[in-house]
Amino acid sequence: MAADSTVTSSAPAPGTECADTASTAYRAALQVIESVEPRIAAATRKELADQRDSLKLIASENYASPAVLLTMGSWLSDKYAEGTVGHRFYAGCQNVDTVESVAAEHARELFGAPYAYVQPHSGIDANLVAYWAILASRVEAPSLAEAGARHVNDLSEKDWEELRHKLGNQRLLGMSLDAGGHLTHGFRPNISGKMFSQHSYGTDPDSGLLDYDAVAAAAREFKPLILVAGYSAYPRRINFATMREIADEVGATLMVDMAHFAGLVAGKVFTGNDDPVPHAHVTTTTTHKSLRGPRGGLVLAQQEYADAVDKGCPMVLGGPLPHVMAAKAVALAEARQPAFRVYAQRIAENAKALADGFLRRGARLVTGGTDNHIVLLDVTSFGLTGRQAESALLEAGVVTNRNSIPADPNGAWYTSGIRFGTPALTTRGFGVAEFDRVAELVVDVLTNTQPEGSSKARYRLADGTAERVRAAAAELLAANPLYPGLAL
Ligand code: PLP
Repeated sequence: MAADSTVTSSAPAPGTECADTASTAYRAALQVIESVEPRIAAATRKELADQRDSLKLIASENYASPAVLLTMGSWLSDKYAEGTVGHRFYAGCQNVDTVESVAAEHARELFGAPYAYVQPHSGIDANLVAYWAILASRVEAPSLAEAGARHVNDLSEKDWEELRHKLGNQRLLGMSLDAGGHLTHGFRPNISGKMFSQHSYGTDPDSGLLDYDAVAAAAREFKPLILVAGYSAYPRRINFATMREIADEVGATLMVDMAHFAGLVAGKVFTGNDDPVPHAHVTTTTTHKSLRGPRGGLVLAQQEYADAVDKGCPMVLGGPLPHVMAAKAVALAEARQPAFRVYAQRIAENAKALADGFLRRGARLVTGGTDNHIVLLDVTSFGLTGRQAESALLEAGVVTNRNSIPADPNGAWYTSGIRFGTPALTTRGFGVAEFDRVAELVVDVLTNTQPEGSSKARYRLADGTAERVRAAAAELLAANPLYPGLAL
């Protein structure tokens, strides 16, 4: 660490210390794996070493607790359990029923939601469940009534033909990709862009902020069935009460995808109008980003959508993953502890420190700052593309991802932005002083990187930069170890 920094580390996030029992469990597991396929044991060990040795600033990643990780490695994985609690298509699901009920109870209590569905295998799956639930509630059910039928089995072939036509003609309004929206919000590489006729809202060209009047105008003109709010790369909060007013005015269902900021909602950093759950008809999330659980998704819904969401499997999901639902229950139980609120608060404070550190050093940020866990740096001010900046940072041990910025001159592949997120390093114990130092190291790398020729990908890092930054990062990382106590 440089002589000027007197960085004192804060405590690691609760539950990430590795007790002797967890070390023993991992050692035993790796020995067993090694006896069957040594390459997998080696890759697993190496992944831990790599994660320990790099500054992980990818906004969508985190480090789950040993309790969450260990929960996934059990025979719960061996059980088929299509259906819902108490209504399974397989016998012998009593223990999976317990697992799913406990996970759903924690989700309802944590987020104050009337209903929670914990089966989705990922965030994309959660969104697909939500879309079909809304279509079933808003389009299919009225069509059944119109056809004089009470059940889909009562529909004639002609009724089906009409229903298919209606289902295939619905409109969705979501945030544009370059403003920070996600592929699942109606964009072509995802099925949502083929299922729906899509229209998007962007951000104000000067401030980079969401313009609610423009969203309302787009909603009035386009009249969507579904208004989607939520993002992957927008560094600001959204007023969900206003989004609900817009949805109500045009008769749309408000669906919020809080995949990125669910940890800030769980930790009560986002309350009132910043908390989507009371305002949205349906809220979806991943469980592995700021929420710090296993990879997976979940859907929260107002009661009127509960029955339709419940049909996620087998409508669009394969059989549930009981071992992952168990790990979701453990992670949600962790997130209900008071210490998680401290963790969530620190995620937001650290993002501010990182943003301020960039701004003080002359960098340009999309929207001029942050009030969530994301900082979006415009690297054109360093004369670089996102691709060049991402590669140079990686060479110096700083793991980030390139990202489009609004009206990106370099397109979606090379991009002009780098997205940073604070949840993972906050889990390790980084505080505001460490994040200011991270800003200094990132600026050091980018000011010492030159594009090579006219290439948008090739770059040259000045001699000694990678070594200098890696050494400084190693000091920060050593002072804030990942899974302290875990020795393999
Ligand atoms: N929704 C948003 C807003 C996301 O950012 C992501 C992933 O990055 C997803 C959904 C998809 O999550 P998953 O990768 O678990 O399918």
